[in-house]
Amino acid sequence: MEYGPGIEDSSAARGWLAERGAFGHFIAGAFTAPGTTFTTRDPSTGEALAEVTQGTVDDIAAAVAAARKAQPGWAALGGHGRARFLYALARHVQKRERLLAVLETLDNGKPIRESKDIDVPLLARHFYHHAGWAELMESQFPGMSPLGVVGQIIPWNFPLLMLAWKVAPALAAGNTVVLKPAEYTALTALAFAEICREVGLPAGVVNIVTGDGATGAALVEAEVDKIAFTGSTEVGRLIAEMLSGTGRKLTLELGGKSPFIVMPDADLDAAVEGVVDSIWFNQGQVCCAGSRILVAEAVAGRFEALLKARMARLRVGAPLDKSTDVGAIVDPVQKDRILSICRAAVDAGAELVGGQAQEGCFIAPGYLRGVAPTNPGMSQEIFGPIATLSTFRTADEAIELANNTRYGLAASIWSESATVATDLAARVKVGVVWINCANLFDAAAPFGGYRESGYGREGGRAGMLDYLADAAPEAPAAAAPA
Ligand code: NAD
Repeated sequence: MEYGPGIEDSSAARGWLAERGAFGHFIAGAFTAPGTTFTTRDPSTGEALAEVTQGTVDDIAAAVAAARKAQPGWAALGGHGRARFLYALARHVQKRERLLAVLETLDNGKPIRESKDIDVPLLARHFYHHAGWAELMESQFPGMSPLGVVGQIIPWNFPLLMLAWKVAPALAAGNTVVLKPAEYTALTALAFAEICREVGLPAGVVNIVTGDGATGAALVEAEVDKIAFTGSTEVGRLIAEMLSGTGRKLTLELGGKSPFIVMPDADLDAAVEGVVDSIWFNQGQVCCAGSRILVAEAVAGRFEALLKARMARLRVGAPLDKSTDVGAIVDPVQKDRILSICRAAVDAGAELVGGQAQEGCFIAPGYLRGVAPTNPGMSQEIFGPIATLSTFRTADEAIELANNTRYGLAASIWSESATVATDLAARVKVGVVWINCANLFDAAAPFGGYRESGYGREGGRAGMLDYLADAAPEAPAAAAPA
């Protein structure tokens, strides 16, 4: 791949990787020696970046034991004591923002502009925000206590941001954690582990065990008090089955097939820009991507012409190039998955506009038109830069189409009328609604879904509550000795 002049300098991140070469886990405040490893690669070039250890049942047990040992002390620090560490983590994330952004782009394939302007700033923001919650613990959550040790399993699409969504509230509430990052993208979690050490976070408060689904399953079966999972609906369902009857808490953030509704009075230029943010951002590997564009028939022709013109101007290419809009898909397996759903959609009668597979892990942005409600492109989460485009005549029909899915994560509604937009917002069966915008995340706004998109919330007060329990009733006072 040819690099133009606007290439982010990756030498510091490459030096950081070369110095380490192979990574063990982060357990009880220290890195273990690497065990059996697998290679993590830059999906845009196939280049090997580092060796990462495949976590075993014993590794998980050691991490859980470290977290268990650390938890009472961490809780006893009190909200203000914990807040000091969360502020320090946020500040050190900002100090290391360049390393984190470049590592994220190398490991995941996302454009450097996004890592630098979205992922890393939101990571810091999440820790700052939750430092605030830690300070407010006693006044805002009286009588509530931490759950204990939390096992956290995250996907590869926003490795750092998903880490923050899990770790920050858990720590603020007084829990300790064992986090398993996704196998494709463990590097930034390991860099974060170094930051934990840098700020002097007490040993065992954050533990990171790398590995694949088997490592994740070992964590689900370990002696933890809660599992917080973000990933596919299929794995979420498996985890729910594994935990049933154990009495352990579970929150699930799963897949989606979110509607993007363009009403006849919408600002069409703005809506087209919204599509870019919604489905072509992060190569469409976004759980809440507006992957089903529903546009009012009266404006569909104009909207599609604008959309096509905008799509043609998106630059697909090297993730480290600062002008790249669409980077690499995370792994060849995911690329094949995206292409196979598109093929099935076309076989079932849809027309694919754009969306060509390119050499390596690249797919051009595209959309499927002429998709019947039963078309697989309409029902399956493509998790790539391909939307569906269909039309409706009335608001009722828009809502019927929007809710015709097994998911219920998010919706984006475009209308110049606040009344129309808020009326529709109340009728879409989803956890998050954006009006005249899309994919905006804030640490203060709870995020989460309904139906097969999962349950539980991350962010804001609701997110904190998912890491707290009502305190056990006080034991009756012992009878005074006679
Ligand atoms: P995935 O379910 O394959 O993997 C997610 C994580 O689970 C990884 O760390 C993986 O190693 C682990 N895992 C796999 N099998 C496991 C098992 N049997 N037991 C325990 N852990 C296991 O999902 P993915 O491909 O990494 O991510 C894509 C999916 O994540 C999409 O469906 C997307 O919508 C969803 N997602 C949801 C949200 C949300 O907040 N709702 C956010 C991001 C991604």
